[in-house]
Amino acid sequence: MTTTHKRLRDGRGREVSYLRLSVTDRCNLNCMYCRPKDKVPFIPHPDILRYEEMLDLVSLARDLGIAKVRLTGGEPFARRDIMVFIESLMGRYPELDLRLTTNATMLAGKPATLAALGVSAVNISCDTLDREKYARITGNDRLDAVRRAIDESLAAGLRVKINAVALRGINTDEVADFVRLAMQFPLDVRFIEFMPVGDGNLWKPENYISAQDVLELARGAAELTLETNPHETGGPAKMHRIAGGLGRFGVISPLSDHFCASCNRLRITADGKLRTCLFSEREFKLRPLLRNPKLGLPMVRRVIALALRDKPLGYEVLNPGATPEAREMSAIGG
Ligand code: SAM
Repeated sequence: MTTTHKRLRDGRGREVSYLRLSVTDRCNLNCMYCRPKDKVPFIPHPDILRYEEMLDLVSLARDLGIAKVRLTGGEPFARRDIMVFIESLMGRYPELDLRLTTNATMLAGKPATLAALGVSAVNISCDTLDREKYARITGNDRLDAVRRAIDESLAAGLRVKINAVALRGINTDEVADFVRLAMQFPLDVRFIEFMPVGDGNLWKPENYISAQDVLELARGAAELTLETNPHETGGPAKMHRIAGGLGRFGVISPLSDHFCASCNRLRITADGKLRTCLFSEREFKLRPLLRNPKLGLPMVRRVIALALRDKPLGYEVLNPGATPEAREMSAIGG
């Protein structure tokens, strides 16, 4: 079924065209800002959506007019048979704009297959280019594997975006190194403002740096020109071309300059909960509906419509005094 003519809108008139589907809450890393070791219990296996259920959800999403799907986690490649799932997805929906967000520690060896299957882009989370620091931030000495995966992804023709969480005093001394990486290779580097999501993370004002301040640091390393071509702006990221460089450098500013007015996202957690805003704790349980033959996808469709009626403005949720978000980023999928 082709769905390109359809437009799904929320109660504020925003077009909803992008689904972030978390395929697992498990991850092989313990990033200090996301899921520090032993702090977060995993979702029990029976509560995790089965691939067949995820295929049904993507089918519904497409039917509703959602063209872009991102698989996230936890770590997508930590889930068994993820490549088989991706093959089924692309086999069933060859026109799907499918992307992945991954820490890339298990990606090497797969980019050529992903490209052949029709995956368009990989977002690779990598907060530092220093091996020892990488081990400290993530609890795992895997930077070499990540660098290999980046090279392979570029060689396979995938669009590559490197996402780094901006951590003041931890990786802000490497902004210039990341600019140089984006000069050398045809990839986008994006620094994301550190968000106060989850109980166990180390968010403190001292560790936070604004996107604007990261950009200033980047400007010290190269001449940057704001990307204005609407097809190349890269969603919420403010991307910049780099004089004499192959790639681009950008920042994502969910806190200092939120982009809630243009938010086009729906999120489904690995245990099948629909979230219409990263910062709101409000979740809609889809799994029991999917698993009840009397309800199934028609009821899921109704719940999505209901949830979209008041998809919040996240910056209001984040206002001082509001209840902080309790679920970990690793459980929501970022
Ligand atoms: N494991 C995959 C990965 O590493 O990309 C996907 C899941 S991860 C939760 C998705 C994204 O969320 C990553 O880019 C990660 O850096 C980002 N993230 C996690 N916690 C964050 C926080 N507190 N603030 C900003 N970004 C965060």
